[in-house]
Amino acid sequence: MTVVTRFAPSPTGHLHVGNVRTALHNWLLAKHHGGRFLLRIDDTDAERSREEYVHAIKADLAWLGIEPEGEERQSARFAIYEEAFARLADAERVYPCWETPQELELKRKVLLGRGLPPVYDRAALAIPEMERMRRIAAGEQPHWRFLLDRERPIEWDDGVRGPQRFDPAQMSDPVVRRADGSWLYMLPSAIDDVAMGVTDVLRGEDHVSNTAAQVQMFEALGATAPRFAHEALLTGTEGKLSKRLGSIGVAQFRDAGIEPAALVALLARLGTSDPVDPSLDADALAASFDLSHFGRAPARFDEAELERVNAAVVHDLPYAAVSDRLPEGMDAAAWEAIRPNLSHVGEAADWWRVVTGPVPAPALSDEDRGYVAEAAQVLDESAWQESPWQMLTSELKARTGRKGKALFLPLRLALTGMDHGPDMAALLPLIGQAAAVERLRAASIPT
Ligand code: GLU
Repeated sequence: MTVVTRFAPSPTGHLHVGNVRTALHNWLLAKHHGGRFLLRIDDTDAERSREEYVHAIKADLAWLGIEPEGEERQSARFAIYEEAFARLADAERVYPCWETPQELELKRKVLLGRGLPPVYDRAALAIPEMERMRRIAAGEQPHWRFLLDRERPIEWDDGVRGPQRFDPAQMSDPVVRRADGSWLYMLPSAIDDVAMGVTDVLRGEDHVSNTAAQVQMFEALGATAPRFAHEALLTGTEGKLSKRLGSIGVAQFRDAGIEPAALVALLARLGTSDPVDPSLDADALAASFDLSHFGRAPARFDEAELERVNAAVVHDLPYAAVSDRLPEGMDAAAWEAIRPNLSHVGEAADWWRVVTGPVPAPALSDEDRGYVAEAAQVLDESAWQESPWQMLTSELKARTGRKGKALFLPLRLALTGMDHGPDMAALLPLIGQAAAVERLRAASIPT
């Protein structure tokens, strides 16, 4: 059977790292099995869902290279939910309830006060049919609960957590539909997973108790439940997902110069025992993706690690992948020379400014001015070669006896106008002989 996975975001906000990890893992799981990965926009909540978030979610996935092979929108499927709901109502697997939130809260408090689990008492189930009809006719719209089968335990073998067992007697019948007719998440999701042929539901462990109820919904719908796997939640380095980290969207990572491949390489392995390997592309990550490598411990998202992975990714990016993000005139040779020194592609522009000049003339001591004048002469008189920086500095070392900072810093100041920055050995070939000689000469003249 072909593996079919889905990512089912609610378009009520931007994707954050936790959502991206879920999307990515579902994609990799499908890819691993040569299956299909679907996007389902869970937009039953008309009030909170926004079209701009739908666009943003798709754009973010596209930027990450995550390509759904199909797409559904829950708001286009209400007729399907009505039909399934009618079947469940006929089978008496959903029942109408009229308790107000205040009444329910009171029931909860009473049970908790007696030291009992706050399980809904099914009082509405005892309302006679005639009375139900009278209320509905009188315009008293009910909300609806799914009737759990309490006769046997709910069990599934979780792809990450192993065998799971829930006692439905300890669970409240979940509300599946509000009095205004709108849907809560659980039932439409199960209906869609059946209709979309989803074979594997992989999501965060915050959904484990939903799964327990949904397992019975699948049965009630006459379907086989998909395989379930629940990943440990993502945390930050401080032990929980901070408000800040939890709200950073994909666009912010992009604006901070993070490459999609870096985010993918890190998140693909987050929560597993496999090491993060920046050199792996999506195919390689999919090939090695294995739910049995996931642990139960919270997965720690470390931004410093993301920066390290990003630098490694940048060092490997071919010119063609970045040319449209580089400054005008910066060619493949320049990119390759500068690339090993970058943490972010955007920094290439800083280097390129130094290469093309003009650079500010530095304030040097008399002695250093003499020294850079000599450097200008050495460079001018020698044949331009592959490693001009090594040639220049070893020649100057031999001639002047200078070493360390005294040898390098005046040259850097004269050639770049700055006391720090790019590796000079990479930079000097790009500056070129004539410009370098000119900069050294200019710095030797008293200002
Ligand atoms: N829309 C649900 C959510 O965002 C989907 C959960 C699921 O994967 O079933 O939490």
